[in-house]
Amino acid sequence: MILILRSDVVPEDVDEVVRRVRDEGLEAYVSRGEARITVGVVGEAVERAFALAALPQVEEVVPVQHPWKLASRDFRREDSIVQVGPAVIGGPRVVLMAGPCAVESEEQLMTTAEAVARAGGTVLRGGAFKPRTSPYSFQGLGREGLDLLAAARRQYGLAIVTEALDEEGLEMVAEVADMVQIGARNMQNFALLRACGRLRKPILLKRGMSATIDEWLLAAEYVLAGGNSDVVLCERGIRTFETKTRNTLDLSSVPVLKYYTHLPVVVDPSHATGTWQLVAPMARAGVASGADGVLIEIHPNPSEALSDGRQSLTLSDFAQLAPTLDAVARALGRSL
Ligand code: PEP
Ligand code: MN
Repeated sequence: MILILRSDVVPEDVDEVVRRVRDEGLEAYVSRGEARITVGVVGEAVERAFALAALPQVEEVVPVQHPWKLASRDFRREDSIVQVGPAVIGGPRVVLMAGPCAVESEEQLMTTAEAVARAGGTVLRGGAFKPRTSPYSFQGLGREGLDLLAAARRQYGLAIVTEALDEEGLEMVAEVADMVQIGARNMQNFALLRACGRLRKPILLKRGMSATIDEWLLAAEYVLAGGNSDVVLCERGIRTFETKTRNTLDLSSVPVLKYYTHLPVVVDPSHATGTWQLVAPMARAGVASGADGVLIEIHPNPSEALSDGRQSLTLSDFAQLAPTLDAVARALGRSL
């Protein structure tokens, strides 16, 4: 349920409405839009919110038809902007995020970070904790990887995004990361999502490999309902019958999400395709589809990468890709 407040409300009025919502045993979430302030009301007995239409501060009570409430455009009409260090995700600039699949060594990370900064990237990605299909594959450097990411941030002024695999590791990751990645395999790890809701760090929520858009938005809703409004959605491809690509990049999810949700959306063409030759065209297609950013895997020496080498761009291929992303963005009135 959404309470649309009168246009002349003062801060005390908003506080009063929030208090009255809580008195009904419901949760209140305030969104301050350009034109209006709305209060999202959620909870089990949400129909009780209808009674609040009588409050003098409330202009209208609107039921939300979708299962996800705080993620919906009914709650917040304007695009949400998520600030991650120097990167503004969801604004007019398309955000370039890149880095290795996994942090492997100081030299590998620093060389890569320099290439990201030089190409106009603002966010450095790199896994310190890796969700590997096989328990015998490289699992990441752990704490040491986080320390290397922090050093790269200091040296190159980039924001850091890195994955948390479980609740135990979340705090450690969140101490270093500017944005915490929740991977495809964890998209419906509800305990982890709840813990992300309690964090005060932006969350990069990847789409589960077999998740519908509704399931994905409900996963985001867990984080939003926990009180963390900084969620960025990442389309990284879904499982289909096709075998020529690692996954199928569902680019139509971008305009679908733009229609239904105010949350920023980014595209990961690397995990979506699994093949480096396909990354540049699909990154450009991602920007063309209206994504607010791209997340790309790059490596100084892909053939020796400890994970996802086949889908990693070389640093020089990445340097060549960046201006073409800018050109596509400019065709849409945006820029990198
Ligand atoms: C990754 O970003 O390296 C990763 C493991 O991604 P996903 O969760 O999308 O597979
Ligand atoms: Mn990877």
